[in-house]
Amino acid sequence: MSAKKGRSTLPPIPEPLPVPVIDNHTHVGTDKPGQVQKVDDQGNPRHPLLIEGQVAAMARAGVSRAITVGCEIPDLQDVIDLARAHPEFSAAIAIHPNEVPMHAGVREMGPDGLEPRVEEHHRAFGLDEAIGMVADLAREPEIVAIGETGLDYFRTGAEGKRSQQESFRAHIQLAKELGLPLQIHDREAHEDTVRILLEDGAPDRTVFHCFSGDRHLAEVLTANGWYASFAGTVTFPKNEDPREALRVLPAELVLVETDAPYLTAHPHRGRPNAPYLVTLTVRAMAEILNVPIVTLCQQLVDTTEVVYFR
Ligand SMILES: [Zn+2]
Repeated sequence: MSAKKGRSTLPPIPEPLPVPVIDNHTHVGTDKPGQVQKVDDQGNPRHPLLIEGQVAAMARAGVSRAITVGCEIPDLQDVIDLARAHPEFSAAIAIHPNEVPMHAGVREMGPDGLEPRVEEHHRAFGLDEAIGMVADLAREPEIVAIGETGLDYFRTGAEGKRSQQESFRAHIQLAKELGLPLQIHDREAHEDTVRILLEDGAPDRTVFHCFSGDRHLAEVLTANGWYASFAGTVTFPKNEDPREALRVLPAELVLVETDAPYLTAHPHRGRPNAPYLVTLTVRAMAEILNVPIVTLCQQLVDTTEVVYFR
């Protein structure tokens, strides 16, 4: 019973990093007064740590900043407000690929076998209207990237794929118009993701968030100067592909993220995630690359600055 309880609590704060790093892709709660806390399938809060706690834990762990991502209509303004109120946070916005078919009126089941969960905001806004809201809000100074957009072939069928591709193209266009980096969600869709980027012309700074490819995709990224952002998945014992990818990528194309509240790094997989835990992934990456931790931290900071803050 106590073991089960332990799995729903946040892991302890790890030993601090020698150079503070930046979590370039996360989702933190925004604690607005009156805001309803979202819950997962087990009824646990999706964002178990309130923002003051996040900031305190980041400071103790050696995480200087985080980019928090709003990719559903109800979250777009919230992440901007959060970044405005807290200098430790910047924001990225988009319509998530799994939101896209719902806005487009597609009601089909994907390979995951889950019924599409249609919410009020999906009925209220068509796809063009939803992307239009992103385009308007993306001009706010707190926005440092368009994302996450892309393709998720695990969660949708043929019709949904078409709407995801249309949305992906619109977000690519928007990032280029605004001169912003693009954060890509690519789940079981490497081939089409790369094809569309090449057909439409990728933004100057293009990031594969939560990189899930292998050595081959890493070589495609390298050839095109696209960035790979590694999440806790690179630490999972049976997941060799991203480790091989990390070893072949040039250091200047590598980023790190949590994608919290999911994908908590080993050895805390299954427990809630938060930006302060990015340090676990950084330490694992230093071991995989066999480089001193201080060297890797400095490289990650430099690359994150180049992509988002210069
Ligand atoms: Zn994400």
